[in-house]
Amino acid sequence: MAQLLDGKAVAKILKEEVREEITKWKEKGVQPKLAVILVGDDPASVVYARSKQKVAEGMGMAFELFTMPSDTPEADILKQIDLLNNDKDVHGIMIELPLPKGISKNVITTAVQPNKDVDGGHPINRGYILSGEEGLFPATPESCIELLLRSGVEIAGKHVVLVGRGETVGKPLVFMILKYNATVTICHSKTPDLGSFTRQADILIAAVGRAKMIKKDMVRPGAIVVDAGINEIPGGICGDVDFEGVQEVASLISPVPGGVGSLTTALLMRNVLKGIVLQGGTR
Ligand code: NAP
Repeated sequence: MAQLLDGKAVAKILKEEVREEITKWKEKGVQPKLAVILVGDDPASVVYARSKQKVAEGMGMAFELFTMPSDTPEADILKQIDLLNNDKDVHGIMIELPLPKGISKNVITTAVQPNKDVDGGHPINRGYILSGEEGLFPATPESCIELLLRSGVEIAGKHVVLVGRGETVGKPLVFMILKYNATVTICHSKTPDLGSFTRQADILIAAVGRAKMIKKDMVRPGAIVVDAGINEIPGGICGDVDFEGVQEVASLISPVPGGVGSLTTALLMRNVLKGIVLQGGTR
């Protein structure tokens, strides 16, 4: 029976580290601050924004939420981003997604100053993922890597099979995990005989968005399984991995909830602190 890759336990440690670093910045006269822009009233986005506020303030980070109605013209959102880009007291800017219809995600994401782009969506930060330079990288793929490393898993030399090449998780994760010297195979919806690839994985990472699609017979006995999926099902959420079956063959497995998703808010806050340095602050 697999042991758990315990996201909640790792998140607790990460939050403590971030809290300590915030205190150090404050002692140097810098009050770390995250600004979140929420356009429209998508219920999940409202919950996510409020939860970020709670975590940020609980850690001693300043937080400001800018809410705008769903019919806000794109130009007005850009104006708000420009103000935040030029505000020296703001170190991180996050735009809650999805944006309302008619607003271009690309235009808005690209307007955020790259060294304040804590969500890691700006093309310059995407480029840094490829080049290996320091930048701000998206929290969910980072979370998959942190969960492995902090659970004592050696990534170097392992065959990592990723299922999913989405913009949010799979695609950035390819190069982020390559940096740790894994051998990487990427699968997607057009991959024939998916199981023949997933069964070769030392570390199997699912980022698909299809409830419980990775079954026990798709996993090599002893493999490590990381589930980045979040799928709503009656009565709650589940991952892309059929946890009940796969835990019988895997050596380590991340649960949903309580796995990858548990780390993302702490990693977002860590990006705010990384942003301070990228903006010229000295530790
Ligand atoms: P996405 O952009 O929709 O990408 C999904 C990927 O899965 C695509 O590459 C798609 O292939 C592939 N796929 C779909 N059906 C498949 C199948 N039957 N076999 C193999 N591959 C298949 O998704 P995303 O935004 O990257 O998100 C992926 C998952 O992560 C979702 O469950 C999402 O909810 C979750 N997520 C979690 C967090 C967190 O905090 N834990 C944050 C963000 C997202 P094609 O490219 O060929 O279409």
